[in-house]
Amino acid sequence: MAAAISRDDALALDAEDPIAAFRDRFVLPRDLIYLDGNSLGPPPLNVQQRVGEVMAREWGADLIGGWTKHGWIDLPGRIAGAIAPLIGASQGEVVVADSTSVNLFKLLAAALRLRSDRPVILSERDNFPTDLYIAEGLVGLLGGGASLRLVDRADLADGLGPDVAVVMLTHVDFRTGAMHDMAARTAAAHECGALVLWDLSHSAGAVPVELDRHQVDLAVGCGYKYLNGGPGAPAFAFAARRHHQELRSPLSGWMGHASPFDFDVDYRPAPGVDRLLAGTPPILSLAALECGVESIAAIGMDLLRAKSVALTELFIALVEGRCADFGIEIVSPREAALRGSQVSLRHPGGYAVMQALIAAGVVGDFRHPDLLRFGFAPAYVRFVDVWDAVERLREILDSAAWDRAEYRVRGKVT
Ligand SMILES: *Cc1c(COP(=O)(O)O)cnc(C)c1O
Repeated sequence: MAAAISRDDALALDAEDPIAAFRDRFVLPRDLIYLDGNSLGPPPLNVQQRVGEVMAREWGADLIGGWTKHGWIDLPGRIAGAIAPLIGASQGEVVVADSTSVNLFKLLAAALRLRSDRPVILSERDNFPTDLYIAEGLVGLLGGGASLRLVDRADLADGLGPDVAVVMLTHVDFRTGAMHDMAARTAAAHECGALVLWDLSHSAGAVPVELDRHQVDLAVGCGYKYLNGGPGAPAFAFAARRHHQELRSPLSGWMGHASPFDFDVDYRPAPGVDRLLAGTPPILSLAALECGVESIAAIGMDLLRAKSVALTELFIALVEGRCADFGIEIVSPREAALRGSQVSLRHPGGYAVMQALIAAGVVGDFRHPDLLRFGFAPAYVRFVDVWDAVERLREILDSAAWDRAEYRVRGKVT
């Protein structure tokens, strides 16, 4: 049946797609099929004007006065308020600040303090490297007071014990797109008295997340992937309200102080989640991020997820139907409920195949050693893009066009 899906069928799906029109709200090069929004989302149409306004009419015209006259000081809180419903958090549980890596550091350190009788950070070996490196760095800083326990995904339950302070996991795996059962993992951690810290970098704006409903303790996530905030956009951090009173950030900067402009000698944490803030917010970057978050919030997570599932199902069906003879393996879970918004394929010539695809106008990315990654950001990817991408992949594999020296040259960023 899969092989029988025609290009016209894909066009018909686009014609029926209730969120098809949102594609026009993004800047996308004509004739490019962009399946890498899981690494860097495209610019929303209004971002250039918005950032330009902040530069010329706010910063340029009012200088320091912009902090109050243009509400810069409230901008991080406003964006945090718009992210909260996308991840099932309530108002006052999210901050927008720093990078995902830095927010991980703050929340891991805070978690170890909240469970000060327990030394272990539990995570999985296949977690995103920066998450592991940050944990390693924190453990080193604490000089023997804490340790990082890494296990395979299948052994996570066995890794839990009375010595575990916090379980740190990434909700959607960056390599395979496999999605953890957040409710079950969180409940298991709580049962043994540990906290959970979820990394939502590949979830926010792509799959519905219910942090409060599942009693999640802490979370971080990325602004430049499915939230379209621009390269290196500020990230977010979540802490459940029940922890705020006891929560302590190791980066106790003045923006997290109860009263920064009193210029007190002593640090007093802000009453709520704002105690996770450290330094002065990057207003130009935040202006861009706000456009990105609005571009997703305007659609809503239910419609986004429904289309995301339909896109990934179509891709898998077409790859199975049209590329079956070329040694391609589908690495991502077949069951939609276990999969985020990306599909990964394995091919021995993975890197070169991806370079050949990019040369043919289909942008995905490659992850060592042999994974081809395709992100299906539902806000702007069309069903016909999926069809055309698989067709170009089929042509490249069929003609072995990928098997050329020029496609094996590695760039610094893959
Ligand atoms: C993209 C990503 C990050 C990015 O961290 P930065 O600090 O923005 O570089 C972190 N964790 C995961 C799981 C990611 O996918």
